[in-house]
Amino acid sequence: MQHNVLSQMARFLTLLTCAFLLIPAFVHAQAKVVDPAADQQLAMHTSARADIASHPDVPLYRIVGTIDPSKRTWQAIQTLTFRNQSGATFTKLYFRLFPNLSDVGGSLAISSATVNGATVVVKTEANRYLARLDLATPIANGAQVSVVLNFVTTAPGSNGSSLYGTLYQDGQTMSLASAYPLLANNSNGVWDVAVPNTTGDLVTSTAAYYDVSITAPTTHTIVSTGTNTTSSKVGTTQTVRIVSGLQRDFALTATKLASINATVDGTKISVYYPNGKLTAGQAALKYASQSLHFYNTTYGQYPYNELDIVNLNAGSFEGVEFPGFILIEQPFFTTSADFESLIIHEVAHQWFYGVIGNDVQNHAWVDEGFASYSQVLYQEALHGAAAGANEKSIFVADYNDLKAQNGDGAIDRPINSMTDYSYGVLSYSKAALYFDAIRTKIGAAKFTAAIRNYYTTNRYGLVDGMAFVRAAQTSCGCDLLPLYNQWVLAK
Ligand SMILES: [Zn+2]
Repeated sequence: MQHNVLSQMARFLTLLTCAFLLIPAFVHAQAKVVDPAADQQLAMHTSARADIASHPDVPLYRIVGTIDPSKRTWQAIQTLTFRNQSGATFTKLYFRLFPNLSDVGGSLAISSATVNGATVVVKTEANRYLARLDLATPIANGAQVSVVLNFVTTAPGSNGSSLYGTLYQDGQTMSLASAYPLLANNSNGVWDVAVPNTTGDLVTSTAAYYDVSITAPTTHTIVSTGTNTTSSKVGTTQTVRIVSGLQRDFALTATKLASINATVDGTKISVYYPNGKLTAGQAALKYASQSLHFYNTTYGQYPYNELDIVNLNAGSFEGVEFPGFILIEQPFFTTSADFESLIIHEVAHQWFYGVIGNDVQNHAWVDEGFASYSQVLYQEALHGAAAGANEKSIFVADYNDLKAQNGDGAIDRPINSMTDYSYGVLSYSKAALYFDAIRTKIGAAKFTAAIRNYYTTNRYGLVDGMAFVRAAQTSCGCDLLPLYNQWVLAK
């Protein structure tokens, strides 16, 4: 993300039971997908469709509901099907209700719940951030779980500048980012129920499949993570069905804004720009197209067939990345050089945060450092060595300021242990300079090979800072721990 407090940016199986080959036309007409995961291929880039078959056991969120932009609500039934892979028996389940965070300023209320068919009373904790379901029948490790939740989410519609901003109705666009009950992470029976610090990104989550049906007025276009598979209209009401492919969160908007699009390397990029700002919209589309192609050829192919960029006028951030989806604040939709850096930063997050996940609260530098350093690599490749040096010089200046204030230290630490200022400089600027130090030591070609290896090895997973050290050491055949100790751990 780029918050505007940051200094450096001021910135199936189609039971295609082929038994009926005698009547192929009939078979094709009846060949409806039975395995919901197989349908998820529809959101994937042609080069990545086999990733669905190789990830059969990830959670599936099926959400069916209605958006009312005038009431700022999303009312839905969510069925989450997943396997307990925690290594322990579950006696309760926790869901994260991001809209209820005071800084997000909305509401997510669950009116009823069942687990494997049994009704469960929903209890809340942590100021309604957490929903807790106590289970009468424990769920053993390895067992399948089906949780049905009836919920309604309400987005705030005023005072956006005092809020986190990604859940918001600005009159043109209703943004519903991370606005459904998201299962909390569990490792060895321990639930991660920490309340996120809203200085940074909020959502750390494992890859999942989303199958979302939205009914909404035809005055609005539904734009989200993933790909629309079907749509229908009845009078002034439309229903669209969306699949996400392998993604770790689901962002959703209903917007009246106009859009432009381009297809780059098989991915359709759409930009929903502010009213009357077509030129800025075209600039965003150009920057997004150039950066997507650069990252495809440098890091590895973006594995989805869509990327959406949507303008929002909440007044609180610059840009925030979500899987397959980016929100940009209206005042930043310009043709300035800063706008190019903002767009290419958020597009880079699709690789670092989206496909390769990390703990965004405790190791935020992992994705922010890569997204920031991608700005340098992009500028150098697209606009020449001087442009790359200039982009890097901004990070150097930020870091020098921090050192002058005796604020230097380890970059690998929780957001909670940093000020807004030191979080920005350490997690973005200093982390970018750490990656630059590695590139200087091992050379550009081996550095790029390391990123490609890192991307291939960690697709759809969650990493910490050592994952790239391993990839880079394999690439160079050298010891990079001294650089890690110096830059990342400050020892
Ligand atoms: Zn970022």
